[in-house]
Amino acid sequence: MLIETFTVGNLSTNCYIAISEQTKDAIVIDPGIDSSSEADQIFDYITQAGLKVKLIVNTHGHPDHISGDAIFQEKYNVPIGIHRSDAVSLEGLENLNFPAAVLLEDGSLIKFGNESLKVMHTPGHTPGSICLLGERLVFTGDTLFAGGIGRTDFPGGSDRDMRLSLQKLVRLPDNFLIYPGHGPTSIMGEEKRVNPFLTS
Ligand SMILES: [Zn+2]
Ligand SMILES: [Zn+2]
Repeated sequence: MLIETFTVGNLSTNCYIAISEQTKDAIVIDPGIDSSSEADQIFDYITQAGLKVKLIVNTHGHPDHISGDAIFQEKYNVPIGIHRSDAVSLEGLENLNFPAAVLLEDGSLIKFGNESLKVMHTPGHTPGSICLLGERLVFTGDTLFAGGIGRTDFPGGSDRDMRLSLQKLVRLPDNFLIYPGHGPTSIMGEEKRVNPFLTS
């Protein structure tokens, strides 16, 4: 799986393009763009790389992750995958092409080309936060960052759920690469050593 990162929006959200190298099928994770110029930059990359976008996936329903859903959906005419517990967030978006959401749940498989990502439900930051598990990598949204975790004091957040979700994540092998919703990538073994929310 090839991964291209675009940092977008005024909260510096990581928008990832996950790509099946052999088939050029791809998914767009968290297109939290603020402007059409940010969208154009990503569209240009997708065109030049010859990618076929199959799905948009939101790791959760916060505005800084879903703000580009409608413009990407219009461009590629593909559904939006989001956990059922956060799907209500999409109702606030204008111009969204309903009913076009794919409701994800724990264990759902997202397949594109020769690649697949498995949905791990990790509530805490929001009720419908998910992580996406690949072979030796995980997209963690706003659940786990390099050196930190997502806030739990927004509406729908839960400290208790977050603790349980982190307990699931900490079972991943040390060699798993972490692609968070904000900030730099990390590796699970390093987080287990230095991240205070995983070491306690
Ligand atoms: Zn968030
Ligand atoms: Zn965020």
